[in-house]
Amino acid sequence: MNLKDQANVLRREIWREKPYYSLDAYFKNTFGYKLYKVSLNAGFTCPNRDGTLDTRGCIFCSAGGSGDFAISMPDFATSLSEIMTPLSDYTDKSVKPDKIAYFQAFTNTYAPTDKLEVLYREALNKPEVAGIAIATRPDCLPTEVLHLLEKLHQEFFLNPKTGKKFIWLELGLQTIHEATTAYIRRGYPLSVFDEAVSRLNAIGIPVIVHVILGLPGETKADCIKTIQYLNTKNIFGIKLQLLHVLRGTDLYTDYCAGKFSVLTKEQYMDMLVDCIGHLNPDIVIHRLTGDGPKEILAAPDWSRNKRDVLNTFHHEMKIRNVYQGKFL
Ligand code: SF4
Repeated sequence: MNLKDQANVLRREIWREKPYYSLDAYFKNTFGYKLYKVSLNAGFTCPNRDGTLDTRGCIFCSAGGSGDFAISMPDFATSLSEIMTPLSDYTDKSVKPDKIAYFQAFTNTYAPTDKLEVLYREALNKPEVAGIAIATRPDCLPTEVLHLLEKLHQEFFLNPKTGKKFIWLELGLQTIHEATTAYIRRGYPLSVFDEAVSRLNAIGIPVIVHVILGLPGETKADCIKTIQYLNTKNIFGIKLQLLHVLRGTDLYTDYCAGKFSVLTKEQYMDMLVDCIGHLNPDIVIHRLTGDGPKEILAAPDWSRNKRDVLNTFHHEMKIRNVYQGKFL
């Protein structure tokens, strides 16, 4: 057994016997129990939709702003507590902080900071909320928003009296390749992502990066380059997502016109296993596939059965004897 394989055996304890560092393992190691995400639509928009950068949005983005399963907030500033209350009984003093308030739909730092602060505090002050995850774009993190995040991080995470509630930032990168970036209309260059990660690192906010596998024109080697690039960054987690084609998007129009094909299950498994083999073993994997809303999912059809996708993935990792970081 070489040194790398020996290190992998030691890691298996941290990874809870999986061949990769799953979010579940991280939760159990950190909290001693599983945490559950509550996806929220806080009524934001996005500069890629409101005309600031574009009005069409990213080419793959649904009308729900990539938050189709999120709980809608009828009123931006006041309704979070009403929506989240049914999740448990807040009058019970022994309530376990096992929820993550996930600000998911659209761009969740794209508003005046006083409104953001009200919203984030609303979630952080709930006794059953262990922390918040904020999905956003790296070009929507101006200095005043970073100051707010730093203040909340100090107040809720670094102050033991508040129960070490975390604040995570999720950045939608998708790819490092500029040609694909232009095609998907992401709307910012890689240098903006780099700067955002550095600034979030400087204030101690953990960063999770979204990557899409199977984007039109990208090969497995291209996806591995994106992973290798992220290995050089100080990031906490990664969300790997299969490219879904959703009805009503411009990507769907191109798909119907035969401009590209989606991955087969076998191709995705091959790509995913190799990407994980190239991923820094300290990065926590928050997602392995992603599931598009079934009623508007056009392709790939095989992705509807998430359980089958995950079972096939675990089988592939085993028969190919791959673990996270093996190919580094
Ligand atoms: S940045 Fe996010 S919300 Fe905005 S258009 Fe792109 S995917 Fe949709």
